[in-house]
Amino acid sequence: MSSVPPKPSSARRPSGRAGAAAGTAFGESIIRLEALQKTYVLGEENIVRALDGVDLTIHAGSFVAIMGPSGSGKSTMLNILGCLDRPTAGRYFLGTEDVSRMSDDALSEVRGRRIGFIFQSYNLIAQLTVLENIQVPLFYRGQDIKTSRDRCVELAKLVGLGDRLTHRPSQLSGGQQQRVAIARSLVNDPLMILADEPTGNLDSKTGTEVLELISRLNQDGKTIVLVTHDDKVAERAQRVVRMKDGRIDRDEQRAPNATAAPAR
Ligand code: ADP
Ligand code: MG
Repeated sequence: MSSVPPKPSSARRPSGRAGAAAGTAFGESIIRLEALQKTYVLGEENIVRALDGVDLTIHAGSFVAIMGPSGSGKSTMLNILGCLDRPTAGRYFLGTEDVSRMSDDALSEVRGRRIGFIFQSYNLIAQLTVLENIQVPLFYRGQDIKTSRDRCVELAKLVGLGDRLTHRPSQLSGGQQQRVAIARSLVNDPLMILADEPTGNLDSKTGTEVLELISRLNQDGKTIVLVTHDDKVAERAQRVVRMKDGRIDRDEQRAPNATAAPAR
């Protein structure tokens, strides 16, 4: 298996090229949650407050890990951040747009255009090749796949799979499959990448390689929000937000030069 390509010596850029997409400058607020609530009513006496008043600001170019015990609201929060779900109350500003009250269609448009997803189980399509899997989000947005082929080949190379373009997921290792998913998450040049336990299915060496790749994207300016229960994974982030009972329990900023983007 080829390893993750070496980091360019000029990896640290003063400003985030990718994070600056769509009118959000590096360091500006990219996510703002205000008194966010998500409530599930299962019966008259059975109300679950999955999110119970969350205020959170995330700046463009940052790398944030969300941690917390099972049932604390991490997935609910990631689903709302990813525009897969809407809050019951409160506001969610993504860049300058208030997405908390958007229609389903508008929400899925925002999702396709501005958000990249990386899942624990890769979620690749078994019948498609590496290159085709990377192209899938373009297909959903109705873009011409032929003209963007070069860009997808570049992304495959970026994640170290330039020599695996015609392989199918079953012919790849777990780490390679996750790298296809990472390339796919980048194809629309999203404002941010949301990752849910991206190394959860990988052995520790392969997990480290995948994390290095994600860290490198952050150093190149991408905003990363990653859910994990693994302290080793969270160590890569510059900020760790700990959830408990649907609220933010602790919000820890790491030392400024521990990671790529400058703290504000
Ligand atoms: P975590 O990802 O931190 O484990 P979740 O966000 O999945 O936690 O869940 C938070 C709480 O909301 C849990 O108590 C869970 O049982 C509840 N919950 C999540 N989704 C639903 C749902 N669709 N209907 C009812 N309750 C839910
Ligand atoms: Mg969860």
